Amino acid sequence: MANSPKFIFITGGVMSGLGKGVVASSIAKLLQLCQLKVSCVKIDPYLNYDAGTMNPLTHGEVFVTDDGGECDMDIGNYERFLNTSLKSTHNLTAGRIFSNVIRLERQGKYLGQCVQIIPHITDEIKQELRKISREEDLDVLVVECGGTVGDIESLPFLEALRQMELEDGHTNTFFVHVTLAPVLDAVGEQKTKPTQHSVQELRRIGIQPDLLAVRCKTPLTRETIRKISLFASIPTDCVMSSHDVPSIYSVPDILYRQGIIEVILKNLNLKVNPNISKWNRIAKTYLETNGILKIAIVGKYVDLKDSYVSVSQALLHAGAKHGKEIIIDWIDSEKLEKNSKYNTDESEFSNLTKKLEQFAGILVPGGFGSRGSQGIINACNYARVNNIPFLGICFGFQLAIVEFARNVCGLTSANSTEIAPDTDHPVVYYMPEQKHVKTMGGTMRLGLHDINIKNDSGAMAIYKKKIIQKRHRHRYEFNQDYMKLIEENGMKFTGSSDSGKRIEILELPDHPFYFGIQYHGEFHSRPGLPEPAFEGFVEASIKNM
Ligand code: GLN
Repeated sequence: MANSPKFIFITGGVMSGLGKGVVASSIAKLLQLCQLKVSCVKIDPYLNYDAGTMNPLTHGEVFVTDDGGECDMDIGNYERFLNTSLKSTHNLTAGRIFSNVIRLERQGKYLGQCVQIIPHITDEIKQELRKISREEDLDVLVVECGGTVGDIESLPFLEALRQMELEDGHTNTFFVHVTLAPVLDAVGEQKTKPTQHSVQELRRIGIQPDLLAVRCKTPLTRETIRKISLFASIPTDCVMSSHDVPSIYSVPDILYRQGIIEVILKNLNLKVNPNISKWNRIAKTYLETNGILKIAIVGKYVDLKDSYVSVSQALLHAGAKHGKEIIIDWIDSEKLEKNSKYNTDESEFSNLTKKLEQFAGILVPGGFGSRGSQGIINACNYARVNNIPFLGICFGFQLAIVEFARNVCGLTSANSTEIAPDTDHPVVYYMPEQKHVKTMGGTMRLGLHDINIKNDSGAMAIYKKKIIQKRHRHRYEFNQDYMKLIEENGMKFTGSSDSGKRIEILELPDHPFYFGIQYHGEFHSRPGLPEPAFEGFVEASIKNM
C-alpha cells in the first residue's frame, strides 16, 4: 500500500471482560480480508515485564509465541483470527516500557533531563508501536489497550495514543471504544448511562472515540443507538452492536454487516474491498454442527476457563472440522484425589472418578506444582485402563509417564522431581540445562523447537511429516534413563528434539488413542486448521461416542 502507516486503537470502558480482544481481532481480520497487511498489538498496563510470572487463575492463560515470549492471552486471539504468528514484541507491557526507559537513563540517553512519564514514557510507547508497524511493513496496526478507561495505570498509554492522533493526523488513526449496554429490568431496556460515562471519561483525557462497539445481550435497539449517538457525540452509523453470539468467529461478520469496514476505510482514507466469504464459511462450521462431543479437561486451573483458552479453542477447531460441537467439562484434578477436600471417603472418591466414564475423551493440559497432581495421575490411569481417548499436554505428558511407570512398570514410587524432589525413581526430572537458572521470568525452555518424528508411529500417522515445529514452556522433562524399561513395557516415545536429548511425544500402540506431547500444540491451532494432535484426539473421541 505504501501509504503512511495507519493505527486503530481499541480502548475499553465500563468493565473488563467485554470482549475487547475479540473486537480487536475481528476488526483486524476484516482488514486482512481487504488484502491489507495487518497486525495487532496488546498493551498491558501492569508492571510485570511479561505475563510469564502471573497466575493463570487470575490473569488467564500465558500464551507462548514462536520466539518464546510469554504473552497475554489476547495474542492468542490475534493469531487465531489472523492465522499468523506474532512476535513477543506485540505484547507491550508497562514493565517493558519502564525498564527500557530506565535502562536508557542509566546509559545517559537523557543526560541533563528530568525523566518523566510525559514525554519519556509516552515517547517510548509511540516509538515501540511505530517500530513494529515500520519493521513489519504494515498497512494497519490494531492496538488494543488493556484495562478500563479511568484506571491510573493505563493513563500513560492512552496519553501516548492521544499524541499519536495529534502527530499522525486523523486519517491515520482511528479510535474504537468498547463499552457495555446492560439490561437490568424485566422490560429489557438497554441502559446507556455506563457507555455515556465511559465516553466522557475518555474525552476527559482528550480522546474522542470514532466508533463504539457496545457489548449487549441482544442487538442494540434503534432507540439505544440514537441515545448513545446523541450523548457520546458519535454518528449513529458508528455505534455498533457487539451482542452475544454462540461463536466468537461470528463477530467479524456481525460487525461487517453493520458497516464497520466502510466506516473505518472511509476515515482512514483507504480504498479496498473485503471478501469475507471464505472466513464466513469457516465461521459457519462452528454453528452448523451435527451433534455434541463431551470432553473432560482435568487440570489445575479449571476455575477460570481463560486459563486454558488455547486448549479449549484447539478442541473447538478440531470439533468444528468434524461437525461436532465440543462440550467441555472442566474437572478440578483435586476432585480425583482420595481424601482431598472434595471427598471424605472411598465411595465418594470412586463416584467422582467414575464420572469420567461419561466422556468421549479425556484431556490433561499443562500445569505446575504438586497440588492436584495425584488427581491428574488418576485421570491418566483411568483413560489408559478404560481405553478412553487421551491427550496429555506438557504436565499431562509428564504425569502420564509417572502413571505408567508406577502402575505398569512397577516403580511404585516413580514421580516427577517437581512434585517429589527426593523420589527414588525420578522418571521426570529438572532439565539439566535449567540447573543454573536462578531467576523466574522468561527462563523456562520456551518457544519453537524442531521435533523429529519416528517412522511407523502414531505420531507419524498424525503429522505425516518427519519434522514438525512446536512451542514449548517447561522446566522438567522425561528422564531417558527410564526409556528402555518403559518402552519394554509398551509405552513408545515417538518424537524427540535437540538431537535426541529431549523426548517430546509418547503413545500407547495398544490403546485406541493415548497420546502425550511435551510441547503445546494448542498455540498453533487455528479455526479451519486444527492442530493435528487435537484433531487425532477428537477423531478418536468421536469413534468412542
Ligand atoms: N511444570 C512442568 C514443567 O515445568 C510442566 C509445564 C507445563 O505444563 N507448561 O516442566
